[in-house]
Amino acid sequence: MVDYITSVYEKVVEKNPAQKEFHQAVKEVLESLRPAIEKHPEFKQHKILERIVEPERQVIFRVPWVDDKGEIQVNRGMRIQFNSAIGPYKGGIRFHPTVYEGIIKFLGFEQIFKNALTGLPMGGGKGGADFDPKGKSETEIMRFCQAFMLELFRHVGPDTDVPAGDIGVGTREIGYMFGVYKKLKNEFTGVLTGKGLEWGGSLVRTEATGYGVTYFASEMLKVKKMDFKGKIVMISGSGNVAQYTIQKVTQLGGKVVSASDSDGTVYDPDGIDAKKLDYLLELKNVKHGRIKEYADHFGGNVQYLPNQRPWRIGTHVDVAMPCATQNELDIEDARALVKNGVKVVCEGANMPTTLDATEYLIKNGVAFGPGKAANAGGVATSGLEMSQNSQRLSWTREEVEAKLRDIMVNIHKTTYETASKYGSPGNYVVGANIAGFLKVAKAMVAQGVV
Ligand code: NDP
Repeated sequence: MVDYITSVYEKVVEKNPAQKEFHQAVKEVLESLRPAIEKHPEFKQHKILERIVEPERQVIFRVPWVDDKGEIQVNRGMRIQFNSAIGPYKGGIRFHPTVYEGIIKFLGFEQIFKNALTGLPMGGGKGGADFDPKGKSETEIMRFCQAFMLELFRHVGPDTDVPAGDIGVGTREIGYMFGVYKKLKNEFTGVLTGKGLEWGGSLVRTEATGYGVTYFASEMLKVKKMDFKGKIVMISGSGNVAQYTIQKVTQLGGKVVSASDSDGTVYDPDGIDAKKLDYLLELKNVKHGRIKEYADHFGGNVQYLPNQRPWRIGTHVDVAMPCATQNELDIEDARALVKNGVKVVCEGANMPTTLDATEYLIKNGVAFGPGKAANAGGVATSGLEMSQNSQRLSWTREEVEAKLRDIMVNIHKTTYETASKYGSPGNYVVGANIAGFLKVAKAMVAQGVV
């Protein structure tokens, strides 16, 4: 007979056909909630699982805009407002050609639990468009962002839904969207986070996800009586999260030997030090160039591996931190990492590790930090930006960074302790899912059937 958890999952698959990333995220969470549901029969009675997998609201809209040649282009935009039990919907906006409901729903679903783990009052949501920013001019980017916000503005607000950046959306895009919102509403409010420092942004928000994931990985290493000093670290991606993960790991004494983009990987056995990182930041954030140029520029021992991810480079590795995109570390990658000595895998990206790879790593004694706990520093600092906007104050860099560090240490403690309490010591997946879920589930019960 199909059990309760499986029946909820099967209904999700039936009601959301062909949304495989959403199915994957739901399966991972539901499977690990078994002990929590057994301990709290009231959640079954209140149909919390059936309710939590159904977004409160989904908005899908046309985004028409005019390119530099005067041609009309049409994209699809969306915002999935998943759960507001513990605060206004909060989650990023992604601009990437692969965006469709399945991706935004998986991200929005994960966001519910991640935001709960931060300890801040934020619900879960996510949005995006199938727009490809690559190769677009500055004015095309601006027109697209404006067209996107021309519809989104009616669905968001500082007490309703506060979007932020994600893949393809950084401070520049947030600025163009903020400008349109302000004009339409005639209000200067904290409706978006990730803003520029001159107009309501928070210090350390840019660095927050990468710094946070590094603090989380440090705590994981501490449990194993280790630290980053002298460790060989493989990182994927070269965008916002990867850049500041490289920076913090290096500051803590680790040696980062890889970075990547969707075209390939660079392997730098001498390590991406502060000077090389400056080059990478300029290459990616100013010139919008490709990672191959890093290898061309530095030459020597640096190798460029086209169409490859870092995980199968085949040399010794202590810590792996996937920071690019979903499902970028599969079972073969996991096998290669274990063979080469990996001790900690800590996710900077959202769901970068496939389910079978996650299981394999955990079974082989690797400490595995799931994104919803490990990369929560970004949204946590967005939460701090919201607080500063509400107070109309700006905190110092030291204040924000100290709060971020405390939050990450707390998330680690909560997930670690929850895993033990529910019978899976050392399993951060179980710990993160149960700890995030309990907070939201209790709020949903308290607020009745809404
Ligand atoms: P960016 O757009 O700044 O960088 C994304 C990086 O990933 C780029 O190097 C990009 O390469 C690579 N990438 C994107 N799509 C693919 C793909 N399909 N295959 C291979 N590589 C790809 O995004 P972020 O750094 O902000 O986000 C990275 C990850 O971190 C995402 O999973 C995001 O959801 C997650 N995250 C981000 C947070 C934030 O605060 N920004 C917070 C929490 C999680 P290319 O340039 O070639 O596209």
